[in-house]
Amino acid sequence: MSSDPDEGQPLSPEQAADIRARFDRGDGCRHCGGIHVRSCPRVRRLAFHPNGTLAEVEFWPDGRWSDASVIWPEELPGPAEEEPESGDDARRG
Ligand SMILES: [Zn+2]
Repeated sequence: MSSDPDEGQPLSPEQAADIRARFDRGDGCRHCGGIHVRSCPRVRRLAFHPNGTLAEVEFWPDGRWSDASVIWPEELPGPAEEEPESGDDARRG
């Protein structure tokens, strides 16, 4: 696996809206409460019954897992928030 998605990139308005809709549906991760693309970083180990149902979840202790790939509701930009015009002026002319 050499092509990682760009974690830490700012969300596009479309992505933010989509994720907000998922939170509104209560569709956040049941383990950490956020939304992430990959498997839950908070979960250290999953144990399954032979019939495929989840038997046990082992979590990393607090402070031992990174939530860098998790999106939290409070991190989402507001639905009607205007983007501040700052940053790239130095690159012009
Ligand atoms: Zn999670």
